[in-house]
Amino acid sequence: MSSDNNRNIGLSDIIRMLENNVTFTQAADSVLECITDSMDICDAVVMQIDRESDTMHVISETGNCFKDESGTVKRSEFVLCSDAIKITYEGNADTAQKGLLDRLGVKLSITVPILINNVKAMYLIVLSNDVQAVSDNKIKEYISDMALVLHGIAQSKVINNSLISSYDVLQKILDNIGSGIIVCSRYSGNILFENEMAANVQEVRDTIRECLEDVFTCEDVHRNIGASMERYNTESGLWFEVRFSELEWIDGSEVIVVTAVDITQKKKNQQKIEYQAHNDFLTGLYNRMKCEVDLRKVIRRTEKAGLKGAVLFIDLDDFKHINDGLGHQYGDILLQQIAAGLTGIPGLRGHCYRMGGDEFVIIVEPEIFGDLNNIIGNITALFNKPWYLMETEYFCTMSMGVAVFPDNSVDVHEITRMADVAMYEAKRSGKNGYTYYSSKVENSTAKRLDIENNMRQAVSTGIDEFVVFYQPVVDVNTQMCTSCEALVRWDSKALGFMGPGEFIPLAEYLGLITSIGDYVLEEACRRCKLWNDNGYPDFYINVNLSVVQLLQKNVVENIKRILDKTGVNPKNIVLEITESFAINDMQRVMDIITGLKKLGPRIALDDFGTGYSSLNYIKQLPLDIIKVDKTFIDDIVEDDYAQAFIKLIVDLSKTIGTKIVVEGVEHKEQFELLKSLGVDYIQGYYFGKPVPANIFEEKNLEGRLGE
Ligand code: C2E
Ligand code: CA
Ligand code: CA
Repeated sequence: MSSDNNRNIGLSDIIRMLENNVTFTQAADSVLECITDSMDICDAVVMQIDRESDTMHVISETGNCFKDESGTVKRSEFVLCSDAIKITYEGNADTAQKGLLDRLGVKLSITVPILINNVKAMYLIVLSNDVQAVSDNKIKEYISDMALVLHGIAQSKVINNSLISSYDVLQKILDNIGSGIIVCSRYSGNILFENEMAANVQEVRDTIRECLEDVFTCEDVHRNIGASMERYNTESGLWFEVRFSELEWIDGSEVIVVTAVDITQKKKNQQKIEYQAHNDFLTGLYNRMKCEVDLRKVIRRTEKAGLKGAVLFIDLDDFKHINDGLGHQYGDILLQQIAAGLTGIPGLRGHCYRMGGDEFVIIVEPEIFGDLNNIIGNITALFNKPWYLMETEYFCTMSMGVAVFPDNSVDVHEITRMADVAMYEAKRSGKNGYTYYSSKVENSTAKRLDIENNMRQAVSTGIDEFVVFYQPVVDVNTQMCTSCEALVRWDSKALGFMGPGEFIPLAEYLGLITSIGDYVLEEACRRCKLWNDNGYPDFYINVNLSVVQLLQKNVVENIKRILDKTGVNPKNIVLEITESFAINDMQRVMDIITGLKKLGPRIALDDFGTGYSSLNYIKQLPLDIIKVDKTFIDDIVEDDYAQAFIKLIVDLSKTIGTKIVVEGVEHKEQFELLKSLGVDYIQGYYFGKPVPANIFEEKNLEGRLGE
């Protein structure tokens, strides 16, 4: 009875002990102690099976029965094939066991396997001399209870251990996962767990915390659960995708898991794609698509705020011909330089767009609208300077149209069209300038479209609507008409009579100038030959060549073809080139001029004084004649500077062997003055306006024809 009592006390001690955090060995020691206290035991042991080495280790033991003179007995001998409790005593032992029992001097052995996770892991072995115990079921029960206790302890330790170790593994995985993870309480926001990255990598830590703050300060926290947000960390320059999800935590509480993944690369790729969709690959400016998107936004914003903004539409003058003539690589560099120049103007960075080809658009936002005049001034100034391409100076001017929103329109397409229309008006009124959109401009656009259609038709159906007028050029000293200039007019059946100012720019723009120019040259050559053959062998005719014509690849052959076809003496033809051609790539200009001169004609530089060329520059060109522009003559009588300029040109022309023609002379005083300054030739209303060939003949050659 007393031993029963002992057993119960022992058990409750053990159970109490289990509540404390004891090691398994401590628990096994107590169990064995309890067993030896409650029965006549000579030895008890808890052994662990080591499957790898196929041996057993002692975890805890009492008594010394296992020790014989020869040393430690192989305890495994007791546990052979013991699947359940095995009781071995003299009565049931096999020979081998009997020998062992004898050797140890014990009467009874009880072996109980302890399973962990359903696998035999340990044995509790009890040896006793109390043979009575064999028939005492209580003892058997007691021993197996004890084994169960050990099993319980071991199993709970294993579960704990594996939890701890799986938690460790998990932590390691989470630390190496490459994103930041934070677990926080659903309600308080208190952080319950954070991985290495979330704890120690500054930008991840900051980003997550910022997002958490946002989420917890917003009213409906729920809305953000399952959502993800993209955050940019300015300090590191990295992008993160931060996600929120809900989870039941180990302790059953509701938590929020926040993960922050570095998406910088993805973002960069995205930006690259977006960049490609919205940017012009050549110039790096935004493209037409982006222009539309931005303009829509800006107009809406401007209208709302009751402010104003503007669209500037820029088209380069004669770019196509520079491009075709110099090669695309030069054209491309020029476009890049222009793009850089535009974005360099204060207030324009980020507001310049390349619409395609040589067209640019600038959106003037309401914030800088007050500065519109300055901006226009800056753009104009940009194009009044040469561009440098491969160490050569090029002039490339532009024409610009300005449309104001909301005044002109609030529709993206309409306002762009209006700026375009105004741009064309600027082109029409002489290029290298700008025009504001107005109803007048709109009307002239309607007219322009009309002209455009009619001109195409006129050019394609025989070109005879175009007529050539001739204006006398007079030798200052003899006051004889020694030559004339061929000037084209368009006598349109549909639109009436037009001067070249009204249709030449459009003809250049539409690429029709070459057909018209060829026609004028051919007419002039025929006329010249006729006059040469009829008493004026030295009379010559000046013919204008447009820059567009001159930059045509086959310009020299084309002119040769016309000269040959008409049979004119090429020496009696003067080809007039303008400064705007002469200031292109020097080498190219030289090549063309020398090519033309080889055919026989002389070369005149037209409109001198209106452009950019310096005297130094002029000196390098093989020119025969310089034609000084009318603007220098208008005030020549009063203007000392203009007089000095003419004198300078006259002197220069003597040293380089060119003749001077002064255009636009309308009054006697002008003529007298120019004569005194040593000018060679005069062209102007004073001596005669441009007139049709027959009238010219009558006025200037009649009576002398056939002399
Ligand atoms: P431009 O080559 O400078 O021709 C001289 C212009 O000045 C002519 O105008 C002529 O009528 C005008 N003019 C001459 N003397 C006087 C004067 O005393 N007072 C005033 N107010 N004007 C005078 P037009 O015929 O209207 O031609 C204008 C421009 O059109 C020409 O300027 C030339 O650049 C261009 N053009 C004319 N015909 C042709 C052509 O066949 N081909 C090309 N490419 N351009 C042409
Ligand atoms: Ca001319
Ligand atoms: Ca001229």
